[in-house]
Amino acid sequence: MPEQSNDYRVVVFGAGGVGKSSLVLRFVKGTFRDTYIPTIEDTYRQVISCDKSVCTLQITDTTGSHQFPAMQRLSISKGHAFILVYSITSRQSLEELKPIYEQICEIKGDVESIPIMLVGNKCDESPNREVESSEAEVLARKWKCAFMETSAKMNYNVKELFQELLTLETRRNMSLNIDGKRSSKQKRTDRIKGKCILM
Ligand code: GDP
Ligand code: MG
Repeated sequence: MPEQSNDYRVVVFGAGGVGKSSLVLRFVKGTFRDTYIPTIEDTYRQVISCDKSVCTLQITDTTGSHQFPAMQRLSISKGHAFILVYSITSRQSLEELKPIYEQICEIKGDVESIPIMLVGNKCDESPNREVESSEAEVLARKWKCAFMETSAKMNYNVKELFQELLTLETRRNMSLNIDGKRSSKQKRTDRIKGKCILM
């Protein structure tokens, strides 16, 4: 398979219950539910614009647990970009991302050229906050990845998250809008919208 296949594969990792499925469903279907339904693995596809043509954005929503290490390795090998989700209400969920990040480094080698987004979800729950955004920013700098806080519940920064991830890909010129042109100014403004100010 040539590197420039017609699929662009994004994999979403993170502990169980942080809101991976909620973020993906909010983005793909525009819906949100309060009940928790554990995921094994689901993949969603969407047509996006890519290098003056179109390609398929393939989003894989993984299970939070480490019950399926072989599946996790395969997802990393096949993935072009990664979303690492924790909940701002759980320090433990941030800790749990570390081995996943390390495995991405181990399998992919040069992670600097790979779009990775560290995402603090549930930022609507700020009274229960356990992880300050400044702390996650420090980690993101160490990991040489981008950082954003989101709320799948309030639909805050969800589309921006996916758009920003595509912007980080330097090998292809991609946009969520099929006829969309990406302005580099817009890219910069999107990038600094990382902090969550929802109360
Ligand atoms: P996953 O295991 O990471 O896929 O987590 P889910 O998407 O299934 O969500 C776990 C629980 O967190 C569910 O009860 C969701 O309703 C809730 N949840 C997900 N995203 C948010 C959010 O942004 N804010 C709040 N308050 N709850 C959320
Ligand atoms: Mg899930």
